[in-house]
Amino acid sequence: MRLVLLGPPGSGKGTQGAKLAEALGVPRISTGDILRRNVAAGTELGRKAKAFMESGKLVPDELVIAMTAERLREPDAQKGFILDGFPRTIAQAEALSKLTPLDAVVNLFLEPEELVKRSAGRRVCPKCEAVYHLVSNPPRKAGVCDRCGTALVTRPDDREEVVRTRIETYERQAAPLIQYFKDRRLLREVYASGLIDEISLRVQEVLRA
Ligand code: AMP
Repeated sequence: MRLVLLGPPGSGKGTQGAKLAEALGVPRISTGDILRRNVAAGTELGRKAKAFMESGKLVPDELVIAMTAERLREPDAQKGFILDGFPRTIAQAEALSKLTPLDAVVNLFLEPEELVKRSAGRRVCPKCEAVYHLVSNPPRKAGVCDRCGTALVTRPDDREEVVRTRIETYERQAAPLIQYFKDRRLLREVYASGLIDEISLRVQEVLRA
């Protein structure tokens, strides 16, 4: 299955994407993760993207489109994929339509205040990229990754003022994108409030429909 997951920062897009990828046996491709890896490794792409990311702005289309096109050409993406964080602009959506057909676009939506609360509690593993939440999905041992034992960190762009900028940026950019996929009859809306497993069930339902 070839899917796009849409949803503002804090909607649980990463968590749901990972669960769905496992259930479907396809890779979850997160442009945010790929960019963060490039920043950490100090690649040319990472150096270009860093300032945009740290201030909660979008990285320029041409950089992100080239990076995603390259990732979609890899063998594991030939049987399907879950794109998380891409496309974020109409230019990216149009570029994507030239790269591959899509089966559906799942849009996770949630009230803005709930989004800020969720991002504030998020902790990530800098080594294996596992995602936790202080309240809804805590690690077994406080501050330590269950999978690899690394100390968990707060993403620099999860600070409250940056989160608000990211939500505003998202909403401004997402409205035309949501319309774009609605026009192409690909959009499936899912309310992202509640427990992780409840939301998963809702996602599976809309994909069956
Ligand atoms: P995310 O982990 O998806 O929230 O992405 C973190 C940051 O990476 C975003 O705030 C952007 O700066 C950048 N980014 C990720 N995906 C894209 C994209 N498709 N287009 C532009 N910037 C992106």
